[in-house]
Amino acid sequence: MAKQEDVFKTIVAHAKEYGFVFQSSEIYDGLSAVYDYGQNGVELKNNIKRYWWESMTMLHDNIVGIDSAIFMHPTIWKASGHVDAFNDPLIDNKDSKKRYRADVLIEDEIAKFDDKINKEVAKAAKRFGESFDEEMFRKTNPRVLEHQAKRDALHERFAKAMNDNDLAELRQIIIDQEIVCPISGTRNWTDVRQFNLMFKTEMGSTADGAMNVYLRPETAQGIFVNYLNVQKTGRMRIPFGIAQIGKAFRNEIVARQFIFRMREFEQMEMQFFVRPGEEMHYFDYWRQWRMRWHKALGMGDSKYRFHDHEKLAHYANAATDIEFEMPFGFKEVEGIHSRTDFDLSQHEKYSGKKIQYFDPELNKSYTPYVIETSIGVDRMFLSVFCSCYEDQDLGNGDRRVVLHFPAPLAPVKCAVLPLIKKDGLPEKAREIQHRLRFDFTCQYDEKDSIGKRYRRQDAIGTPYCVTVDHQTLEDNTVTLRHRDTMEQKRVAIDELEGMLAAEVSLNSLLRKLL
Ligand code: ATP
Repeated sequence: MAKQEDVFKTIVAHAKEYGFVFQSSEIYDGLSAVYDYGQNGVELKNNIKRYWWESMTMLHDNIVGIDSAIFMHPTIWKASGHVDAFNDPLIDNKDSKKRYRADVLIEDEIAKFDDKINKEVAKAAKRFGESFDEEMFRKTNPRVLEHQAKRDALHERFAKAMNDNDLAELRQIIIDQEIVCPISGTRNWTDVRQFNLMFKTEMGSTADGAMNVYLRPETAQGIFVNYLNVQKTGRMRIPFGIAQIGKAFRNEIVARQFIFRMREFEQMEMQFFVRPGEEMHYFDYWRQWRMRWHKALGMGDSKYRFHDHEKLAHYANAATDIEFEMPFGFKEVEGIHSRTDFDLSQHEKYSGKKIQYFDPELNKSYTPYVIETSIGVDRMFLSVFCSCYEDQDLGNGDRRVVLHFPAPLAPVKCAVLPLIKKDGLPEKAREIQHRLRFDFTCQYDEKDSIGKRYRRQDAIGTPYCVTVDHQTLEDNTVTLRHRDTMEQKRVAIDELEGMLAAEVSLNSLLRKLL
């Protein structure tokens, strides 16, 4: 575990050193759980957003986008249930004065049983080699069965307490499991209390009668309150979807793990409006489609898994998470929820306006059901960044740090490098860069040895380097170096655009989805 933590620290340091992510307000000692994206980070983030946006709006005839405001009428948050129920159960340790989420403390305890079981399995697999039957071992090994029984009992008790909103029981579980504060090491816990995660601010001057408004904790409600505007002006017919990318804000109690849990973050959400009764069909469709979107990036299929929800949110009748294997374990990156007609019905009730859909095929009006796909841009960024980072041993004591980004997501697609700084090579290299920059993010670099320049590009994940040498002046060819294989081949300048486009364009990635 310690080793994984070290790896994560190194990755975080790399993100800062190479201009991907900076702590917000760093020169003022930082603002907790708020981060800024640097020159390379913003490119990677924009590419992730484009991949999502275009896969939704360009590959689906029946999905359009919107961009709604962050501020909304405060009654929206009453109707959606966020004012009353968007809470996390928190608990304080009286000795360290540190605050924790009670549910997370218990989930970590459950994960410890999983770790113990996995360790037993790994040990046995090593001992038995080829002949090892994992399924049989899990079903029969007494130690595994003992851990599993304890895990299941704890899990059941926890799920019930969460479903019943039983805060006293959550505390009792923490006491009974003898969970200690990682800082003080004591079990001196306060009661569990609910804590609302929305940020509140005021709009208008006091003379006018200021109104309390919230910074939106999700982008979805902007879609719900506009769905009929879009349906009517876009002549959309059910089933149809509305996609949106935008900032969301949550006053997270425990902000941990770098950009995994932030107080200001970005979401990519899509609400898909369907006929009542057809929601499970579309829930399955979106569950599969979203997994395909992730896997098309080629970061390794085994790094993803579904996690179906035990405790359904107040609005949902089915929900699953797509989890990704981060250096600190499998974690939620995206949620897919069947939200029923909850939100639209609530807005109808609270606004007093009729927002039903008239279905011309059925010749009747109804409140549509909604399937939502909701993914955090920053978590997606983190999963890509962590899984692509490699400190590679090249043999002979030589190493390089390389980011194996899927080429269409890479911040810089191509670097153009004159072998030396004279003999007309810089001018030729500039000429090539100026030609390529209309289609690809390109960098020109002439400083330091060519080896050092390759390493610099590896460290920011540039898939291709184009090197201009004396031969280039004679026959208009360059060497094209591939980031992952480090292979170099001679190609004609005229072929560069086509070769790069085939590998690095978003188009090539989108085509994998259909
Ligand atoms: P968690 O259980 O981790 O708090 P959640 O289930 O509350 O997340 P949702 O409300 O389903 O999350 O939000 C959808 C997505 O938004 C999440 O899958 C995640 O990628 C992202 N997200 C939510 N909260 C944060 C946050 N504080 N920082 C960064 N991303 C977040």
